[in-house]
Amino acid sequence: MDSAVAMARMAVQRALIFLGPPGAGKGTQARRIAERYGIPHLSTGDMFRDHVRRDTELGRRARPIMERGELVPDEIVLGMIEERIARPDCRQGFVLDGFPRTLAQAEALDRLLEAHGFGRPLVLHLVADEAQLLRRLAGRRTCKLCGAVYNMYDHPPKVPGRCDDDGGELVERPDDREDVVRQRLTSYHHQTRPLVEYYRARGVLVDVDGTADIEAVSHQVFALVDRIAVP
Ligand SMILES: [Zn+2]
Repeated sequence: MDSAVAMARMAVQRALIFLGPPGAGKGTQARRIAERYGIPHLSTGDMFRDHVRRDTELGRRARPIMERGELVPDEIVLGMIEERIARPDCRQGFVLDGFPRTLAQAEALDRLLEAHGFGRPLVLHLVADEAQLLRRLAGRRTCKLCGAVYNMYDHPPKVPGRCDDDGGELVERPDDREDVVRQRLTSYHHQTRPLVEYYRARGVLVDVDGTADIEAVSHQVFALVDRIAVP
């Protein structure tokens, strides 16, 4: 049997959090972890886009903020996350992608995890350098249909401009535009970087070399999560 299939029967029972600058591959690794262990991948970006698409009240409030490349208020994000992790499919654990980004959010998340019966999170910190991040982000394109992420340099589609899985059009998301990317990197350094020290001090953070290729990074990440998973 494929070992990935066997692993899917192991319960993570934790919140897995990816930290690292934009472009470090958090989204890709979060998706892979979710698939391997059969747990939900909770991307705040996907949640926002879902609310915008459905034109919910939260979506209408979040949209102009996202388009400016600014952080959506905690109250909106936490509301979406709390509703989501209370659903039954999150009981065996889940992966958070794009959250938390500030100390206040991390503290609020700790309370939320506590309230919903999850223990301490496992925080996977992807470490990468800025030049590499800019190159990755400049080439990033997202499938309009399924949300799959490609990169013109590192992970191009077989047919230019089209998703390998469904032929969907690949587009540059507003938050991947260069000016917005620079703003996101600045935000990261000011707001998210302190989280690394916060989680490190709590003993729940592990560093992962994010400069390696996608497969090698996954290999490191799987080994770490296997260690805490319960058969
Ligand atoms: Zn697609």
